[in-house]
Amino acid sequence: MTDRILIRNAIVLSQDESIGELPRADILIEGETIREVRPDISADSAQIIDADGDIVIPGFIDTHRHTWETSIRTSAPDYTLGAYFGAILDKFAPLYRADDVLAANRWGAIECANAGITTLVDWSHIMNTPDHADAAVQGLQDAGIRSVFAFGFPNTSIQAWWFGPDYSGSVERINGDEARRVRRQYLSDDRGLITMALATRGTNFCKPDVVRYEWELARELGINITVHVAMDRFGYTKMQLRALKDMGLLFPNTTYIHSSHLLPDEWEMVRDSGGNVSLAPQIELQMGHGWAPAQIAEELGIPVGLSSDVATTAPSDQFTQMHAIFASERGRQHEKAWNEDLDGNTPTPNLITARQVLRWATLDGAKVAGIADRTGSITPGKKADLVIIDTKSPNVSPVIDPVGAVVLAADISNVGTVLVGGRILKRNGKLVAELSGPRRDVEASRDYLVGKFGTPEPGWLPTRAMA
Ligand SMILES: [Zn+2]
Repeated sequence: MTDRILIRNAIVLSQDESIGELPRADILIEGETIREVRPDISADSAQIIDADGDIVIPGFIDTHRHTWETSIRTSAPDYTLGAYFGAILDKFAPLYRADDVLAANRWGAIECANAGITTLVDWSHIMNTPDHADAAVQGLQDAGIRSVFAFGFPNTSIQAWWFGPDYSGSVERINGDEARRVRRQYLSDDRGLITMALATRGTNFCKPDVVRYEWELARELGINITVHVAMDRFGYTKMQLRALKDMGLLFPNTTYIHSSHLLPDEWEMVRDSGGNVSLAPQIELQMGHGWAPAQIAEELGIPVGLSSDVATTAPSDQFTQMHAIFASERGRQHEKAWNEDLDGNTPTPNLITARQVLRWATLDGAKVAGIADRTGSITPGKKADLVIIDTKSPNVSPVIDPVGAVVLAADISNVGTVLVGGRILKRNGKLVAELSGPRRDVEASRDYLVGKFGTPEPGWLPTRAMA
């Protein structure tokens, strides 16, 4: 008989429309899979998890993170995007050894389990050698979370990843043979715990021949594309969707990251091509990308995923992202209402809600990651990727609206129990994984990288970005 776990007497926020929010229900898990969700399930011989009064949600989905940067966490607190390009991509990335990628990915994925993130899209633009690719995959495997490994380009010098402001540089293509090897060797199973995507740069960073090569590589490999678009005020980040359309490269299920400055017709292109967006609101607000345009995406029916992007400059958990997008998207509506001179007694219309935000952090995130058929909601038949939020702490108790409790009151310290595919990775607030070895490794990686680089200035701005 397969292992069975019964979560008892929880408040269940299923994100499944046919199940809804249940004030007191049980969840039966058999092996990797959710079998039943309803009150009063009896299951002899099942392992019981008593969740009386606690809240169960589907695991959070982080739809875009450069996990290799975990080694240099908070090294760049005051950076803008230009400073980040100059220091992190141009100077730190070429220093990375395969062991640094292993330490960073393992620790970053453990960090996810701790924070209730059960699926991570690892946007891995550190494919400097085959050993780097092996190390990145191994780090994710070691932590046991679900992930989408987005194979990216080599980051060995600025010439490798960007054609430069005068469009004269020769950008290295993603290494197609390496991408094929990783697909064949590790990630050939599209139902596996780790699946594959392609992390491309697009027309902001590469000339058309490289763009076309990378999009066609994704098609050949049968994997989805994830690409940064329309961020910051630089001229070269504008109108990328139009450029892709002209090249015939608007593929379905493509993730457009940031999307802060998409034009109205470009939003329609995202929708009409079956694309989705990954928004990193804390980073977008802080570093100058622009607003996190969740509301317009929602109005067009485009799935919105939340993401943490870079640990160098912001917290990497989904509570932070939920707070940032809830405040910023409502703030924009309030300001619009003020500017339209609405009567001071008229409530601001069209405000996003906490329930929408929780959906973006879970079910919509799974759509963006391309795996909503197996995760993102508490639905019988889906994988048991679940988080139990402990409601007993001073910052959460007493609970009135459980969605409000998760979106607005809870934080990482309330992530009590975490399951991925029915496997318990955290229980009663403690990670199951052994931490001291992985922590020593990531600290040694930090020491090596900072030793080579020198400590970054908090708000350092490279001369190239200033020019
Ligand atoms: Zn990014």
